[in-house]
Amino acid sequence: MNYEKRRLRMVDYQIKSRGIRDDLVLEAMKKIERHLFVPEEQVRYAYNDRPLPIGLNQTISQPYIVALMTEFLNLKGSEKVLEIGTGSGYQAAILGEIAAEVHTVERHAELAERASSLIASLGYTNVHVHLGDGSLGWTDEEPYDAVLVTAAAPEVPEPLKDQLIEDGRLVIPVGHPRAQLLEVWQKKAGGFVQECVANVAFVPLYGEHGWDKDPRTNFNY
Ligand code: SAM
Repeated sequence: MNYEKRRLRMVDYQIKSRGIRDDLVLEAMKKIERHLFVPEEQVRYAYNDRPLPIGLNQTISQPYIVALMTEFLNLKGSEKVLEIGTGSGYQAAILGEIAAEVHTVERHAELAERASSLIASLGYTNVHVHLGDGSLGWTDEEPYDAVLVTAAAPEVPEPLKDQLIEDGRLVIPVGHPRAQLLEVWQKKAGGFVQECVANVAFVPLYGEHGWDKDPRTNFNY
């Protein structure tokens, strides 16, 4: 089966069937070629229903989780979005397909460089990859209409809340290093309305407002 067929099946069987309805999200997931974002030895699994290793102990997220998180941002097309945790660049490309402008921050130079050149080669002039500690957000381009964190935080980093516009949404996995709740925060009248929407398992968010060392080796199970 060719990649396009696999991708359309992925959208039908993994994403639509689990209740994702936002047409902008579904169209972006149909269009972006996930197999270009994974290492060569993972290409055959690119449209499977799971995260995949991308090197440096990091992962590209499960397609359904990418769709779910994107849907919770409630994007309409004119937004400026901040993503923390560029990884392969796949989620950033999905955001770039939907939003007007995307800034994505990655702490590993190797991943940032790889994602940046892939995204540029695909023609996304509205997606900007930055190297740095994303737990601090990215102040050069604030404020953002939406913020998406694709690594697990011990708690919501305050700078990310600060860099959001009024009515803006922040989607972030928060909790235990091996299992988190996906939280959606919306800024309202200077405060926040918050809800927990799913159980997820992400790799850790490191940095000043994240974990300072691998938290998964500090716990007894
Ligand atoms: N969104 C990615 C994609 O589409 O491939 C998947 C992200 S992966 C699950 C989490 C990423 O967060 C890793 O690439 C990791 O290096 C990055 N990360 C962890 N802590 C970070 C921090 N403080 N700042 C920026 N990136 C961070």
